[in-house]
Amino acid sequence: MLSQINRSPVEINAGKSSPFVEIVWDDDHRSKYQVGQLRAICPCATCRETKGENPHQAIKPKTPNPKTEQSKRGLSLPLFKPEKYQITNMNYVGNYALGVEWQDNHHSIFTWRLLSEECPCESCLAERNSPSNNNSSL
Ligand SMILES: [Zn+2]
Ligand SMILES: [Zn+2]
Repeated sequence: MLSQINRSPVEINAGKSSPFVEIVWDDDHRSKYQVGQLRAICPCATCRETKGENPHQAIKPKTPNPKTEQSKRGLSLPLFKPEKYQITNMNYVGNYALGVEWQDNHHSIFTWRLLSEECPCESCLAERNSPSNNNSSL
């Protein structure tokens, strides 16, 4: 599936004050990503680890201390707060990807393919959520 993704952007719109990045593809499709969403799909090893895809975790200490036990109750997972992230710079990486520099000195490389697959528009969402992946495409 999704083997047809072969598009590239003709236009990328982003403003420093804007919480969105919009990509206009050469097939006239438009994708509008929240900045926080882009950060969330960053494919680099660091981000994947942070998101918990890596089962490599510290094991809880066994000593039960009632006092700390209570404060640990709300096990804190990193929550995404989109407004926390800001893009400071974007550039093309070759002709296959978008490089993004973040305010916290993080760098992301999003291939066109990844961006296509993560397009948050209604029709793409519907397509991805459709239970059958038959030849129902256009
Ligand atoms: Zn990353
Ligand atoms: Zn879309």
